[in-house]
Amino acid sequence: MGLTLLAFYLSITWEKRAQQLLFQHRVDGIVATLNKELSINIEVLLGLNSLFQSSQHVDREEFRIYTLSRLARYDTIHALEWAPRIAAHERESHERQARSDGLDNYVITQGSRAGTMVAADKRDNYYPVYYVEPLTGNEIVIGFDLASNPERLALMQQSAASGEVRATSGIQLIQGDLGILIAAPLFKQDESGQLLGFTLGVYRIARIIRQVFKLAHIDSSEFRMKIWDSTVAESPQLLFSTTDGGFTKGARVHTAQLAVAGRNWTVSVMPSPDYINREIIVGPWVVLIAGLLLSLLLTQYVRVLRYREAKVSYLVEQRTQALELSERTTNTIVDSAVTAVITIDKYGTVQRFNPAAEKIFGYASHDVVGNNVKMLMPEPYHSEHDGYLHNYQQTSDAKIIGIGREVSGRRKDGSVFPMLLAVGEARVDSDPIYVGTVQDITLQKEAEQALIKAKNSAERANRQKSEFLNMMSHELRTPLTVILGYLPILKKADALPPPDLIAEIATDIDASGQHLLTLINDLLDLSKIESGSMTLIQESVVASDAVASVLAKLWKSAEQKGIELYNNAKELQMYADPFRLQQILINLIGNAIKFTQQGSITVETKEMPGFVEIAVVDTGSGIAEDDLAVVFEKFRQIDSSSTRSRGGSGLGLAITRQLVELHGGKIMVTSRLGEGSRFSFTIPVSGGVE
Ligand code: ADP
Repeated sequence: MGLTLLAFYLSITWEKRAQQLLFQHRVDGIVATLNKELSINIEVLLGLNSLFQSSQHVDREEFRIYTLSRLARYDTIHALEWAPRIAAHERESHERQARSDGLDNYVITQGSRAGTMVAADKRDNYYPVYYVEPLTGNEIVIGFDLASNPERLALMQQSAASGEVRATSGIQLIQGDLGILIAAPLFKQDESGQLLGFTLGVYRIARIIRQVFKLAHIDSSEFRMKIWDSTVAESPQLLFSTTDGGFTKGARVHTAQLAVAGRNWTVSVMPSPDYINREIIVGPWVVLIAGLLLSLLLTQYVRVLRYREAKVSYLVEQRTQALELSERTTNTIVDSAVTAVITIDKYGTVQRFNPAAEKIFGYASHDVVGNNVKMLMPEPYHSEHDGYLHNYQQTSDAKIIGIGREVSGRRKDGSVFPMLLAVGEARVDSDPIYVGTVQDITLQKEAEQALIKAKNSAERANRQKSEFLNMMSHELRTPLTVILGYLPILKKADALPPPDLIAEIATDIDASGQHLLTLINDLLDLSKIESGSMTLIQESVVASDAVASVLAKLWKSAEQKGIELYNNAKELQMYADPFRLQQILINLIGNAIKFTQQGSITVETKEMPGFVEIAVVDTGSGIAEDDLAVVFEKFRQIDSSSTRSRGGSGLGLAITRQLVELHGGKIMVTSRLGEGSRFSFTIPVSGGVE
């Protein structure tokens, strides 16, 4: 607004100045034209003067012809005159001459007080108007002595003195308007330089001005103009004024001075109110209105902009808040998810690694984010992943993405673990991102394995049991068959076999019965142990004694096979149930004898902190390495058929182990196939050790 007002003020000032200069320029033009017009008019007078100068005598007709052409062309010239100088003595001859020339009643006249023409008074020199054109209407002037009028006389005197044209101030013409009279002196062209008279011109000021306006192409309604004769500075005489009113006060008036035939004219011009109205300056107002409108528009525009900006920033703020909230929600969800969440970009670079993932992999988020996800994979996934990702992006042939499966992961400490990986694909700005969820399934896997193992062992146990039952029924039936087979022979009282055969039968029945008893005892023991109802009655037992008593029982069967038995056991105190200890030793030594074809069996002891170890070492068949682990399992016979041939329930070592463990000890075996076995067990020294 300020700029607009400044521009308005400046343009108005410039415009006014321009207008003023323009007007001044026009006024200068008018004054120049006026000057020129006056010069031309004076030139006509000088031309007439030259005519008189060049000719000995200019008669009335010549004067008429010459002047009429000029008067026809210059309507500014009211009249052209010739006034000769007539000395007092020439008066009469002059008047006579005139009358004979055809001017009837010609006398030199002057104006009377009554306003009529009378004969001129006597003077030294007369300047009667002798020729005048146009004659019509000016007849009365003929003969009028210019010297009779003091003003005209003064004019002629000045003109003659200076030898140049001189003008009067404004004179009232008979036609009513103002004119000026200009006189040009004519001197004789010889040494005397005598004044011969004056050629005179009467000019109509108004017509000169009109001509000027015409030449300068000026519409007189545009100006108010006044011309003063200011030769006498104190009392200037108004020569011309445009018709319509005077000068308005405070108007800009341009003035110029002009020298006119020895007189000073002052030309004053002001633009007419019409012109001022017409020159009403449009430009500054256009500037002002346009500026104001522009300011208004700008203001409105700025307001709209500000409103829109406010609206947009409000929306942006709202959206940002919503986004932040949504991001926070997403972050919270992802961070608090129990499942590990890992996102990668299309190059496999990890972008997100949530706390659950940190927990599973042992890496901190900042260790992983920005690195390739394959760092979390063991071989072969580690090497294959880049190719897989690339291949998927080319062919959409998915192996995991969108499917999910069990793979292996690698923790920070290098350990590999099974995990369930599900990968989803999403698109952000047309680039894919992959969101993987990982579940550590180590525990499930272990449980699964344990279950499988349990199932397998249950199945095995079941199989063993049926095998055992088969075997057991067979084992039970064999001695029974023997016993029952002998009975018909013994039942025939009248045909009994000879006594030595009966004795042999009795021995066989005895052996079979013993075998049955062993089997049944073993079964009873096992079920007792398994039901937890087996209790020990422990007391102090000397190792060497216990071994000796068992060897004594088995000595016979060893001898039958030609096997040496050695008791290297020391006299060490043990805290054991003597009956069960015996059972343990019988089982181990019995097995040794059973599975040894030749060589020896040695029983030895060793002191251990809190325990005594008893070992049964044989040089028998030995046990294959694979079978070592299972010899202590119940119903387990390494080779059912061979064992059966040697007599056995497959329960011996299982019962033995249970008995040792009931004592708080441990049983172990080392063996080499074909070289022999060493079964050892520990028994606590005192009851303090459980
Ligand atoms: P059994 O009562 O049928 O002998 P055991 O539980 O005592 O059953 O023994 C299990 C199996 O361990 C035997 O069938 C045998 O194959 C093996 N075995 C036990 N002791 C020895 C040993 N001293 N030398 C070789 N094999 C043995």
